[in-house]
Amino acid sequence: MSIKVFNTLTRTKEPFIPLEKDQVKMYVCGPTVYNYIHIGNARPAIVFDTVRRYFEYKGFEVKYVLNFTDVDDKLIKAANELGEEVPDIANRFIQAYKEDVGALGVKEAVHHPRVTENMDEIIQFIEGLIEKGFAYESGGDVYFRTRSFDEYGKLSHQSIDELRSGARIEVGEKKEDPLDFTLWKEAKEAEITWDSPWGKGRPGWHIECSAMAKKYLGDTIDIHAGGQDLTFPHHENEIAQSEANNGESFARYWMHNGYINIENEKMSKSLGNFVLAHDLVQKYDPQVIRFFMLSVHYRHPINFSDELMAGAKSSFDRIRNAFDNLQHRRGTSLNLTDDHDQWLNEITKQKQQFVLEMDDDFNTANAISVIFELTKAANLYLQSEQTHTDVIDQFIETLEELTSVLGLQLKQDDELLDEEIDALIEERKQARKDRNFARADEIRDDLKARNIILEDTAQGTRWKRG
Ligand SMILES: [Zn+2]
Repeated sequence: MSIKVFNTLTRTKEPFIPLEKDQVKMYVCGPTVYNYIHIGNARPAIVFDTVRRYFEYKGFEVKYVLNFTDVDDKLIKAANELGEEVPDIANRFIQAYKEDVGALGVKEAVHHPRVTENMDEIIQFIEGLIEKGFAYESGGDVYFRTRSFDEYGKLSHQSIDELRSGARIEVGEKKEDPLDFTLWKEAKEAEITWDSPWGKGRPGWHIECSAMAKKYLGDTIDIHAGGQDLTFPHHENEIAQSEANNGESFARYWMHNGYINIENEKMSKSLGNFVLAHDLVQKYDPQVIRFFMLSVHYRHPINFSDELMAGAKSSFDRIRNAFDNLQHRRGTSLNLTDDHDQWLNEITKQKQQFVLEMDDDFNTANAISVIFELTKAANLYLQSEQTHTDVIDQFIETLEELTSVLGLQLKQDDELLDEEIDALIEERKQARKDRNFARADEIRDDLKARNIILEDTAQGTRWKRG
């Protein structure tokens, strides 16, 4: 069975056929690093990391590239306001990005190219477009001649005349036509600049992705991905630049994730409802945030609220609790049941269903439902008096395998937690020996607050999750 991908270009689900066997060349548009990213940027980070993980699970090598826009108007403005240099701000927020999405379980890209480190490639790319007649210099700026690219509008499914009707030439722009877009910008006074054949300046935004995709992945790539808001004009412009310059089709599959709303409202500066990922990972368990983001299909809009996060936490806890209970039963199984083949078949069936759901355009929402089915089966199995080690192990292994495809960890945290609990129980034992009952009670209350119930027996203290 092959993976089907919804392609924005054709607006259909298509079987994924890689350019090279067992390999996926994937480019994802990354953040402009002038601030912490907001929750709207955390979604593509998580979604496309999951797409990458699933391809890897199916045996593909994924050449995953995610760029950092480390010079642009917003960075220059931030530098002026803060009295800092652009590269210092960029470095700080690249680091913060990596930490924040890292907490959310997002793996580092194979390449994280930056604009400022690829200036030669960007300039060469623009020179190529000028030579071929697709771009022109005008008073120190360089523009892409949009009408010269016949297929302009094919990604966002708009005709050039529709687009033309709303377009204006802004003050200070030196374009031939309102649809033309900037490839190179002449420097204003006291701005960070690079030398170019057109004088001092810096690149426009769109050109960096065309130049960096070409450098790191080649003229044609398998998947180009990003948030839905990038479809037009950013991705449309990338296609025009790349296909005009390279003379090849640019990306075979275009993937876009849907918007995030905050309490049913669009996130916007004017509403003041921006939620930063940096704050979010402090407030909530990052694993729960990831679980929440994947509980809705990536192409659908997702609504964020504290209430929905609480719901996501209790849902995710159901999986974690079942996993814990399985682990605790591991050592005490009696291996007496004769229906264990039936249970092993049930587990295999759920695993196959998970794969079917993920094959269908990475339907993580349905894949999570399958994990719940598996959890339900595990709980049912644990209710039987006699359990078989093979079945317990298979439940544990499958739950771990499927959740890790989604970038969710069940084991690591729990193991740490187990050690923590054991250490606290040991400390409590010592406190009681020392007749420090206040400390002993404090430990018991602490554990109780974390849903750990202690039971003092003649053989010592036992604990269980409440
Ligand atoms: Zn891009």
